[in-house]
Amino acid sequence: MAPIRVAIAGSTGSIGGQTLEIISADPDAFDVVGLSTGRSAAVIIEQAKNFRPAIVAVADPSARNEVSEALSGLSEIEVVADAKEMCDIADVVINGVVGFAGLPVTMATLSNGRRLGLANKESLIAAGPVVQPLREVDGAELVPVDSEHCALHQCLRSSIDANREVSRLVLTASGGPFRGRSAAELANVTVDEALRHPTWSMGPKITIDSSTLMNKGLEVIEAHELFGTPFDEIDVVVHPQSVVHSMVEFLDGSTIAQLSMPDMRLPIGYALGWPHRLGTPFGTIDWTQLSQLNFEPPDRSTFKCLDLAYAAGRAGGTAPAVISAANEIAVDAFINGEITWAQIHDVSAAVLDATTVSQPSTVDEVIDADRRAREDARRVISGMLA
Ligand code: MG
Repeated sequence: MAPIRVAIAGSTGSIGGQTLEIISADPDAFDVVGLSTGRSAAVIIEQAKNFRPAIVAVADPSARNEVSEALSGLSEIEVVADAKEMCDIADVVINGVVGFAGLPVTMATLSNGRRLGLANKESLIAAGPVVQPLREVDGAELVPVDSEHCALHQCLRSSIDANREVSRLVLTASGGPFRGRSAAELANVTVDEALRHPTWSMGPKITIDSSTLMNKGLEVIEAHELFGTPFDEIDVVVHPQSVVHSMVEFLDGSTIAQLSMPDMRLPIGYALGWPHRLGTPFGTIDWTQLSQLNFEPPDRSTFKCLDLAYAAGRAGGTAPAVISAANEIAVDAFINGEITWAQIHDVSAAVLDATTVSQPSTVDEVIDADRRAREDARRVISGMLA
């Protein structure tokens, strides 16, 4: 079989690094054709030397100069500015870019009729109305890399809930580092505490989102966009062990769950190999060690971001773009010590509340909604600092 040609957007991040680990474990099965980064010159230079892709994209101009110079002896590698340029030379593009910045890669991959392994949930959440039509392009396919959605995809063996035999999707949540704590106990938590995720090793933005349950709320919107399931039929249950990654309940009352150890290399590998499974497991369940699986309802009054995201999802149109953008700014402000952990919710809620939701029909309208939500969030944060 010809090797699978893989391009990785955001190759220097957590998802990108793990994608390259999977490829290194079975180098004959894959051919890395593209790598991209924002500004991590040193890391992408090393990656490019090891994997020899045709295209290396570096967004930041000074980092790009550094990469061009370092790779000048390798004539087979072209250094470019725009990650979109590698989206039409790959069989599968893993989008591991953080945040809304991942949108161009999502759109370019689907427009070119390629398979998209989507770890960048923000692009689908914020731009659902303009991304959805691209899924109809011949050859275009969206395989989620998010562990919960990968689990749902494995239960359905499909990217859509087409047969309507599904009665509900049940997303599991680890509960993050603050599970079981009250709002009063969470008033003064630090960035370091929020970054200490009990089960998953991920980048800082998503780890903070896990601590507020905003991540789970955004994943509810992601599930709605991916599978077409109505919001009333998507539930969240807290499951601290992070072994059951999500479940599908069918009309006859049967529930199918996907279980594996919490390791992002499984969902990444699933998207790389789809419709086949990779031959190399990254950890299997040891049933002699796994004594219990616990489930409990989320504490919606303490972790208010969950219902805030549900509300944005139900409002539809530009509302998911607004909540996602406001949250990105609020998380940054929390990491920079400008606002408290609880204010991440307050900023996002204030911005959503002040927004007039519209139906975007072009990507520019989505970009505009995103930009205005960021400005609004910064204004709300300035007011809090005053
Ligand atoms: Mg997830």
